[in-house]
Amino acid sequence: MSGKKGIAILGSTGSIGTQALEVVSAFPDSFDIQVLTANTNADLLIEQAKKFKPNQVVIADENDYTRIKNELWPLDIHVYCGHDSLSQVVEGNDIDIVLSALVGYSGLEPTLSAIEAGKTIALANKETLVVAGELVTQRAYEKGVNIYPVDSEHSAIFQCLTGEFHNPIEKIYLTASGGPFRGRTASELQAVTREQALKHPNWEMGHKITIDSATLMNKGFEVIEAKWLFNLKPNQIDVVVHPQSIIHSIVQFEDGSMKAQMGLPDMKLPIQYALTYPDRFESDFPRLDFNKLSQLTFEQVDRNVFKNLDLAYQAMDRAGTAACSLNAANEIAVDAFLNDRIKFLQIFEINERTMREVRSIDKPTLADYIAVNNESRNFAQELVNQIS
Ligand code: MG
Repeated sequence: MSGKKGIAILGSTGSIGTQALEVVSAFPDSFDIQVLTANTNADLLIEQAKKFKPNQVVIADENDYTRIKNELWPLDIHVYCGHDSLSQVVEGNDIDIVLSALVGYSGLEPTLSAIEAGKTIALANKETLVVAGELVTQRAYEKGVNIYPVDSEHSAIFQCLTGEFHNPIEKIYLTASGGPFRGRTASELQAVTREQALKHPNWEMGHKITIDSATLMNKGFEVIEAKWLFNLKPNQIDVVVHPQSIIHSIVQFEDGSMKAQMGLPDMKLPIQYALTYPDRFESDFPRLDFNKLSQLTFEQVDRNVFKNLDLAYQAMDRAGTAACSLNAANEIAVDAFLNDRIKFLQIFEINERTMREVRSIDKPTLADYIAVNNESRNFAQELVNQIS
């Protein structure tokens, strides 16, 4: 019996997944990779599996299954395909932590399965909590499962709360870089292109989340994520624009004291903290140099321009499956924008109409979330088809 933590990485070929493997490689005595999964990137999955020698890999896309299997069977690595396999591989006895780094709604069911199997969750897939926060946090509570945030803002809050868990939170401030279109008016946003939207000033991320950062949907989802992770009311969560992305978020306690967590923007730090909590492992990540940083500045967000942030607060007020609808619409709208089928501001329109017009179910079960997700995607897809 080794003292190593067994790790399953769902989404190992994406931006978070590859950085997580860098973190893990630095501590071979502390972590054992047990499961790696990819959506379509078979070549990278094979390369990762040869290096980290997991027990099991999953490729969601069935086309490359045979090729991966032929490459990996001599290494005694089990290969599975299809999205449903994700929910099965997280249950293995040798897994301690499941890093959920899938993109979008697809993260919900595998993450729930990992919770049901009693695994600690390192959560990068915020949509799991956006779509079904009520159900997911309830099941985690009942199973005694901890969910450690990987999202940098939530990791910041979590780090500020260490040693303070018995002290009530008065308020939290999630910081936002403001994205590539910070300070723009609605008319200035009318003609922005896909290429402009994909140029994030501070963070290197996948396409979906980069567009969500440009529309502030990502920040809206983070507000919802924070509500569930830290058991807060919507009016206890504020967003402040901080273009330098040095302060990653702030907690304000009932005595008025505020704690902030700072550092250079580098996802490897929150990934590592989620895997090593409650310890901090020595790292060679670049350090903040005050000779190169002259000021930290703060601004308000204009929610009338960046309507997605406002829609996230509306979704929390409406409760039930409203946020599930918002997420579904946004996945369709962002995909359409990335394929040049709709304009930037039409993302807001599609999100708003879908959330308003698709039914919302109170006290939803998993089946209700699945149904509303499908209805909302179909509704949003029809709106896209009408436009383009
Ligand atoms: Mg974030």
